[in-house]
Formats: sequence, C-alpha cells, structure tokens
Amino acid sequence: MNRIAGRTFIAMLLVFALLGGTVFFLSEYFAKGEEWVLFSGSPHVYGGTKLSTGMILDRDGALLLDLSGDKTYAPDASLRKAMLHWTGDRQGNVYTPILSEYTPDMVGYDAFNGVYSYANEPGRMTLTLSSKAQKAALEAMGERVGTVAVYNYRTGELLCAVTTPNFDPDNVPDIAGDTSGSYEGVYLNRFTQSVYIPGSIFKIATLAAALETRRDMEDMRFTCDGVYEIGSGDVTCEKIHGKQDLKSAFSNSCNCAFAQIVELVGRDKLQQYVEQFAVTESVSFDGITTAQGNFDVSNAYGESLAWAGIGQYTDQINPCSFMGFMGAIANGGKGVSPYVVSTVQVGSHRTYRAKAADNRRVMSGATAQILTEYLRNNVEVKYGAENFPGLTVCAKTGTGEVGGGRKPNAMFAGFVEDEAYPYAFIVAVEDGGYGSSVCIPIISKVLKVLCQ
Ligand SMILES: [Zn+2]
Repeated sequence: MNRIAGRTFIAMLLVFALLGGTVFFLSEYFAKGEEWVLFSGSPHVYGGTKLSTGMILDRDGALLLDLSGDKTYAPDASLRKAMLHWTGDRQGNVYTPILSEYTPDMVGYDAFNGVYSYANEPGRMTLTLSSKAQKAALEAMGERVGTVAVYNYRTGELLCAVTTPNFDPDNVPDIAGDTSGSYEGVYLNRFTQSVYIPGSIFKIATLAAALETRRDMEDMRFTCDGVYEIGSGDVTCEKIHGKQDLKSAFSNSCNCAFAQIVELVGRDKLQQYVEQFAVTESVSFDGITTAQGNFDVSNAYGESLAWAGIGQYTDQINPCSFMGFMGAIANGGKGVSPYVVSTVQVGSHRTYRAKAADNRRVMSGATAQILTEYLRNNVEVKYGAENFPGLTVCAKTGTGEVGGGRKPNAMFAGFVEDEAYPYAFIVAVEDGGYGSSVCIPIISKVLKVLCQ
C-alpha cells in the first residue's frame, strides 16, 4: 500500500507540475506574446532592426513617412524638415519614440492570430499634427533656434510642434563637419526634450499661486520705484512703474510688484502651488516623457526667492509642460495632457485610438477665470490685439536671462479663448531677445493657418 501511495504521490506531483507549467506558459504567452513576436531581431516582422512596413500620415491624411524599403518621406522638402523631430531620419540620429511605441499596433498582432496582417496590409498611423501649421511654423521661425507649438486644450490634440534647427532627411547636410554652430542640438526635439529659463512667463504661475492663496489679492496695490530692496539684495525693473493694481502689475510685468507678491504668498505656498499646477512636471504621452522642469525654493530667501517667482533663479520649464499649464487655465482650471498619435489602423482593424483626455483640476475655476481676464488684458493693452485678427488671444511674454554674455531667450505663452479655436500655445526662441517682438509674429502666422 505504501508503495502505491508513494507512486500516486509522485504522479500527482508530476500532474501538478504539468498543470503549473501550462498555466505559467499561457499567462506568459498572453502577457508577453507580443513582446516575443515583435522582438527587434525577428526576421518575420522587420527588415533588419527596423519596422519594414507602415505609413505615418498627418491629421488630414497627407503622407509624412512610408516605412517600406528605404523609407519615403513627404514629397515637400519644407514639410520633411518641419516633421523631422516626429518622423526621424534614415540614420536613426533623431529619436522617434512614437515609432517604437506603436510598432505592435502598426504590425497588427494579437494573442490568437499572431502577426495577422503585416504582410499584406501596411499599418497606418495618423498623427494629430497639421502639415499646414508645421510648414507655417517652420517658415515663421526662419533661422531662429527654438520651438513653437499649439495644442487643443479641450481634446489634447497636438496640432503643431516644430523644432529648429532641423534638416531635410532626404538631403542630410554635413552636420559633423559644420563649424558654424548652426546645427547645435539639431537632433533634439526641443519641444519635448529641452528646458528653458522661463523669465516672465513664469509670473503667470506666481500670479495663480497668489490668487489661490489670498482672497484679497485683487484689492492690493503695488508701488514700483524701479528698485525693490529685499533681504540683502534687490529686484529691479527697467523703468519706474509707479502705483499699480494687480492687473497692471501683471501687464507691466513689474518685477518690483512681483517681488512683493512673492512675499505675500510665502515660500512654502509658492512651492506648493507651482507643484499643484504641474508647471514643471514632466508629461508622458505616446512613448514620450518630456524633460523635467525645475522650481525649487527650499533654500531661496529674500532676493533669490523673489527672482524665483519672476522666472529666474534656478527655474526651468519644458515647453510642452508649460503649454499644458496654459491649457489648464484656458480649460477653466483643468489640465488636459497632449498627445500626437490619433489612431493606428491595419487594414480594416483599428488597433489603436487615442484615449479620451484626462481632466485633472490644478486650480480653481475662479482663479482660471481671473488669469484669463488678465492674460487677455495683456494682449489688449501691451501686445496689440491687431496681431491676432478675429481671435481672442490671452498671453504673456517672457525674457529668460541666461547670462554668460548671451542674449536672453524670448518666450511667449498663452491661448485662444474662442470656442471654435480652443488652442493653447508656446513659443521659445533661444538668444531671441525680447519675447514680444520676436515671438508674436511667429505665433500669429501659425494661428492664422490653424484658425481659418
Ligand atoms: Zn516695476
């Protein structure tokens, strides 16, 4: 009996081992099958290590890149340049995360059918970007270095995001041999991967923090004598602004007033609200994680703390995140994350569709409304509403002092308030000088194309 019992026990052990192994295999198969099939060395799916089939189209269906063979880019040279930082180059120098992120969807894989349709039907990835806006942005930037971007703050669709300098992937210049410096950082997508000293566009965040902290903020008055002594140092303005209410202090971009506003808010509250607004937080979408900004006033006192609230000190912003902050204000205080891939289709199968935008409240509706009114006032009294015919643009300029004898970075951030054109934007021009004169004509041309 004992011998039979022993054998039964061993047989049962083997049965359990088999069952366990089967369960393990099946769970691994369903969980990781896609990874196994689409691993980068698979000769069935790829030519070499590259996805060998599929097309990338703009929001209107225009061809941006056909991945078959040696890759075919858009027929238009300026469109090829404008799209470089999204569709990449043949050498692989430009990082294109959207391609790797959606390879499984482009190839057409599922656990029951395996790779079911790659051989006969190329995948079609449709982006949210507009070729017309990309080309207008490229032309408007000209020889300047930086980025210009626009997104829909209700849906999250990225309509335009151009980085300069760039190059034509069908006519690659001698970048390694260039000594003029005009291709510095050419492979970098400045919209997603760079950070800038924000300068005065950061006053939007400081103002928002002030409005969230104190109910009486709008009743306050601020006097500017051109210099405001604080701690052992001082904060200066380029001219004497005199006595101002909060709205005028903002449209004058008065540093002395903002030093006083920072004192009223206090260091801890300022830090807390900047974090809550997600101004410096990195954003993730479509396989991209944007560069992390910086706002750290834990060791900032007096003059340093004041300059931090004015967008200097150690402040850094990523253009994509800051554009999202503009979108949150425009959207009544709720942030909507951007995205660039709209759908992926293989044959008649829709293998991917962008999810509905998340709506995270970052500030009260009341604060967002006051900020909108103030940002609109800036355009009306300072920048000129005639620069944006037919559009209700709300915005703020900035001049990020970078030091080292270099010209400051010119910045411009804001949004269109009109229901038909719910677009938020940012422009950053390196060594650009003053934000208003450089950036306004650029975004004006892009919005003209998008809002018609
Ligand atoms: Zn002033």
